[in-house]
Amino acid sequence: MLNQVDPADVPNLVEGEASFTLHGAGVSGGIAIGHAHLVSSARLEVAHYDISETDVDSEIQRFEAAVTRVRWELDELQTSMPSNAPAEMGTFIDVHRMILEDASLSKVPADLIRARRCNAEWALVQQMDSLVAQFNEIEDAYLRERQADVTQVVERILKAMLGTGHAPSIPSHEEDVIVVAHDISPADMILFKQHRFAGFVTDLGGVTSHTAIVARSLNIPAIVGMHHARSLIREGELLIVDGRDGVLIVNPDKQVLAEYQLRGRQLEIERQKLKRLRTTLAQTIDGVQIDLEANIELPQDVDDVIESGATGIGLFRSEFLFLNRSELPGEDEQFEAYRQVAQAMKGRPVTIRTLDLGADKSIAGELKAGPNPALGLRAIRYCLAEPQMFQTQLRAILRASRYGKLRLLVPMLAHSQEIDQTLAAIAQAKASLDADGIEYDRSITVGGMVEVPAAALSLGVFVRRLDFLSIGTNDLIQYTLAIDRTDDTVSHLYDQMHPAVLHLISHTIRTANRAKIPVAICGEMAGDLAVTRLLLGFGLRQFSMHPAQLPAIKQQVLRTSLPEVKAIAARILRTSDPHRSRQLLDKLNA
Ligand code: PEP
Ligand code: MG
Repeated sequence: MLNQVDPADVPNLVEGEASFTLHGAGVSGGIAIGHAHLVSSARLEVAHYDISETDVDSEIQRFEAAVTRVRWELDELQTSMPSNAPAEMGTFIDVHRMILEDASLSKVPADLIRARRCNAEWALVQQMDSLVAQFNEIEDAYLRERQADVTQVVERILKAMLGTGHAPSIPSHEEDVIVVAHDISPADMILFKQHRFAGFVTDLGGVTSHTAIVARSLNIPAIVGMHHARSLIREGELLIVDGRDGVLIVNPDKQVLAEYQLRGRQLEIERQKLKRLRTTLAQTIDGVQIDLEANIELPQDVDDVIESGATGIGLFRSEFLFLNRSELPGEDEQFEAYRQVAQAMKGRPVTIRTLDLGADKSIAGELKAGPNPALGLRAIRYCLAEPQMFQTQLRAILRASRYGKLRLLVPMLAHSQEIDQTLAAIAQAKASLDADGIEYDRSITVGGMVEVPAAALSLGVFVRRLDFLSIGTNDLIQYTLAIDRTDDTVSHLYDQMHPAVLHLISHTIRTANRAKIPVAICGEMAGDLAVTRLLLGFGLRQFSMHPAQLPAIKQQVLRTSLPEVKAIAARILRTSDPHRSRQLLDKLNA
């Protein structure tokens, strides 16, 4: 964070650098102060202009210098790769090198510059478009996917060209960088975990999109749905990100900067204070113990889980192990990842969700998005359609179950035959391990996610056949209200307090409690302080959230009396008037 920026060094308002404010949806609290770093996609960025006959040679030289620069960058990447980097990383660099050396990219753009007398960036992007069109014609899904590699190599060359010209200075320290992007895919976002940026803002995305969820897990201030940030902000501009209120201030003046620095320091003090609750038992005033568990995406997130004082892992989104690579992880590699988490948690429960691919998370060459990805071949539907892949994962999880306390969680179940088929697949994986003489935890429990309204409205078969339930409120809201959670144009209609949503949640909790099977919430509502008391009032006793949210939720639990909140929660459930509902929620949280 640029808390060190001295307001005295910030001009009040320098000509051409007017201060302005943009609003979006805050997805991760706190204040970040830093310099903008624009992350772009090639097509959006490129200008088109004619050049004179006399400039053709120097334009071609500029292009060739950029190709040389990228060649050097790829060599550097290869030599500086850490020894524990996945093997695919090396293959990926080789593929990029081959693409770079191919005449279609290293030579044809130069011919285009000469023939059309256009700038180098434009010639390159024209050639990229024509290559991508050719790739689109290819039948083989794997080869077709290689078009993404072509685009990435082109982006590298473009970046190198901008770097040789009048590129604005990019701050050298990551901690001072605020990433500004039109859109970031969940797969790209997960790559940012290796960095320590100060904050993120994106033009697209809803607050419960997977991009936002991963941004939240990075525990740095972030805003999505800014609409025009990418086009209004220039590289290197000073930014303040207020991730709680969703406010972005560009080129702040001295007073505003000083005010936000102060606010940032206060928030940090509060955060440190909350950390003291790490070992405190999460118990309501009337003595009821509440389970506060954590969500993770990758094995390395476990350190944060332990640091947060979570009693277990309520959701391990295992599909993130499958992103950003050209080959699927095999059984042994998956086993290692699950074993690592199981052992690190030292006997505390670890809930591994089976693959939830599809919708906004896809793997290279494997998945056609379909006309409506959120309603398509996603999650358990995809796994049941790819039995070999599913067996590999189930065997890996079962093998790891010897090393800790694992639970299996199945996403997006809606039909009773899906439950039957899933249980049959688990039985098959167990039988194959038995045949191989491999040990596993024979009493491993199997739970289902309730994230489709159809599931919440037909819980009988769920509670009869499964050991526990976990409510995925992100999807339950998306599917109940018919709001694509990744689409910021309808995000104002994505309402966790909608009576239909609350009825489905409270009904699921009540049904599970009556049937005496555990029920948790692992969607974003579990980490939202505004609804903690409401959910406790509905009878929820198990929450799973980002580790960073856990201390504040624990504090709220410690300050809550269940008999008091139960009555108000029941009144909220009875009202269909949004105004009244808000009033009652304020009363509940007072
Ligand atoms: C959910 O839908 O609430 C959930 C926890 O799963 P995901 O966000 O990964 O879809
Ligand atoms: Mg979900």
